[in-house]
Amino acid sequence: MPHADSRTLLLVADRVHTLDDSGSADADSVLIREGVIAAVGRASDLEPATGHARVLRLPGAALTPGLTDAHIHLSEWALARREADLSAAISPEAVARQAAEHAARRPGDWVRGRGWNPHRWGGGPPQTEALDRLVPDRPVILQSHDMHALWVNRETLRRAGIGPDTPDPEGGRIVRDAAGQPTGVLLENAGQLVARCLPALTVEETAEAILEAQAELHRLGITAVHNLPALHIAEPEPVRVLETLRGRGELRLRVLQHIPLRQLDEALRIGLRSGFGGEWIRTGGVKMFLDGALGSQTAWMFEPYISSASCGIQVLEPGEFRFHVRRAARDGIATTVHAIGDAAVALALDVLADPELRVPAMPHRIEHVQCLPPGRERDAADAGITCSMQPAHLITDWSIADRHWGPARSARTYAFRALRDAGSRLAFGSDAPVEPADPRLGLMAAAVRVDLQGQPPGGWHSHQTITVRDALVAYTRRAAEAAGTLGGVLRPGVPADIVAWRPDPLAVDPREMLSVRCIATLVAGEIVHSALSA
Ligand SMILES: [Zn+2]
Repeated sequence: MPHADSRTLLLVADRVHTLDDSGSADADSVLIREGVIAAVGRASDLEPATGHARVLRLPGAALTPGLTDAHIHLSEWALARREADLSAAISPEAVARQAAEHAARRPGDWVRGRGWNPHRWGGGPPQTEALDRLVPDRPVILQSHDMHALWVNRETLRRAGIGPDTPDPEGGRIVRDAAGQPTGVLLENAGQLVARCLPALTVEETAEAILEAQAELHRLGITAVHNLPALHIAEPEPVRVLETLRGRGELRLRVLQHIPLRQLDEALRIGLRSGFGGEWIRTGGVKMFLDGALGSQTAWMFEPYISSASCGIQVLEPGEFRFHVRRAARDGIATTVHAIGDAAVALALDVLADPELRVPAMPHRIEHVQCLPPGRERDAADAGITCSMQPAHLITDWSIADRHWGPARSARTYAFRALRDAGSRLAFGSDAPVEPADPRLGLMAAAVRVDLQGQPPGGWHSHQTITVRDALVAYTRRAAEAAGTLGGVLRPGVPADIVAWRPDPLAVDPREMLSVRCIATLVAGEIVHSALSA
């Protein structure tokens, strides 16, 4: 008696975008066997050969490879989803009020929030007073939208031992008023003075938050992430958390895990290398920082910001950076370096292009590449360096870049087209929790360079747009290459990480990208998200 073979599944859609150069252009179906793609082609050709395969019909849908979020702070985002969301606040008072409301809802000690953005109220610095008035007795810690500044109240300053005599830590700044009193704003490394007072998170509560976050990523069509270390929380060791989930068979996300610089010695000592790991967890590069960010005016620029005499903050000296890259590369660990300002990007390109510092397992990569230095369009392509960029940053940043950097520098900011035309490997991600994890925002931003209000008209420096297809390739195939793996395409022999979209994201006007729905997501051939009945 015929019965459905549970290990074989035929997906029948309207269209398959294999994103593979040799893939057939008229395919509408994918055959999956034991979690791996067995064939891609026309349903009429595949169906007779499938025997008792289960058939999932997805009329009106287009299939693509599962997407990779190539830059996410996974546990930080997962835990942030449980904190006060301050991103809509339009004044420091509104931020303080929301923090107080959150505190009232959640009894306990620390009051946590994130997403406040001083550009929503003209950029003036917040002060402790507003917070102290509304939350006088509990420590409050509120992270800025770009994650490069903390706003805390007096109780937090007290617990962290920060007073008028506390020196600025290296690579950070305690913002002070005219009388020398800390205002409650802590920039860059100064945030660590507070972070180390926070109670330790447990592996179990972090794992629980990541499982919730994983479900959300599947709803968004994401099946893999490149995980960056947390910036402002003392997360439990990510590998311990992820391995806990994997051991229970609950990890349904392929994770490339980068290593923070402070763990490089330990990694080298135990012989850890980029590429080490398995199907679900794989070791990435060592993460370093060369500068800060645009919004906090801490990105390191060749020329001063328009609104100040500062060129930003240089976090690592060139000699020190080269030293770390070299000792990591010598033992097989690639470099993953944060560089936003043009001076920081130039330094990253200078150092990482050295052919003697190549690592076999995976290419070096620059995170963000926001302001491309003039005349350096070809360098990343020539040296095989991955440009890991987050197009959705543009949605919030375009007007800030205009204001802080001016038109000439803005014209080479988020230079997707210049980099792509030079043959660079672009890998796209979200930088969640800095931006939402939804990749449709990135597809839209890369293809039309407007914000959610459609501003500016015609797109911001529209000569730097790329096609939705190119952007999708950056979320799939190129991200896989950046990890030194072969996924990100729909091709026989590749794990069946597949997303069904309706309508076809490559057929809609990119401005309408948010009308595209992810109706099903498969990881290793298993349906992990389905909105088919909706
Ligand atoms: Zn980041």
